[in-house]
Amino acid sequence: MKNKLIAGNWKMNNSVSETKSLLTKLLPLIKDTPNSVVVCVPFTDIYAAGQLLKKSNVSLGAQNVHWKNSGAYTGEISANMLSEAEVTYVIVGHSERRQYFNDTDETVNGKLKAALNAGLTPIMCIGESLNQREQGVTEAFLATQLEQGLKEITAEEAQKIVFAYEPIWAIGTGVTASAKEAQDTIKFVRKQIASLYGEDVAQKVYILYGGSMNDANAFSLLNMPDIDGGLIGGASLSAEKFAAIIRAVEEK
Ligand code: PEP
Repeated sequence: MKNKLIAGNWKMNNSVSETKSLLTKLLPLIKDTPNSVVVCVPFTDIYAAGQLLKKSNVSLGAQNVHWKNSGAYTGEISANMLSEAEVTYVIVGHSERRQYFNDTDETVNGKLKAALNAGLTPIMCIGESLNQREQGVTEAFLATQLEQGLKEITAEEAQKIVFAYEPIWAIGTGVTASAKEAQDTIKFVRKQIASLYGEDVAQKVYILYGGSMNDANAFSLLNMPDIDGGLIGGASLSAEKFAAIIRAVEEK
């Protein structure tokens, strides 16, 4: 098994002072973990978080990026701006952005390309709604999200992407996919990546599960063979809970 990658998505939470307090509590709890850890913070926290994470084992991430390098796009942030601010990861296509801010497979594709061009590691989110799961179209929907979102992205670039399977019905709801459901769907996602880029890329890439992962269910989810880590929303706002998830599975 690979070491795990655990990424926190703070969403629109934590001011600068709250950021300092949360990271100061978190870092000592996870300082010797073999797993990789990322915190995806609001733009306004990037500087403060960057200062605290400088000599730590935690990487800095953002939650969104624009597809252009610069220009008349009021309120937006480019990939180059993020990389100069020492951000190394960026979430792309989170379902909340797809739902509330019109992210589409096409803009996700542009954002992935911009992030890759700037040397950032994108965390590409995909996932079906409850309605789609109940109608049995989950696999077809995920296949389309992957195919459209990854248009014109080469195998060499694709292997730098972290994928996050996040069923929308499990995000922020307290309802988690069962370990088997998450494993089966992520196995399917890996198969799709193999069909686009070959088995080698599919085996190399990290595929995370996201959706109400917490300290109680992390062990069973992260022990699944195809689940390479987690994208954690709510539980990443507590140093103790986030650390417990990070430490739930540690390959020595
Ligand atoms: C997320 O926002 O990516 C997420 C998985 O949230 P939560 O853990 O709160 O369900």
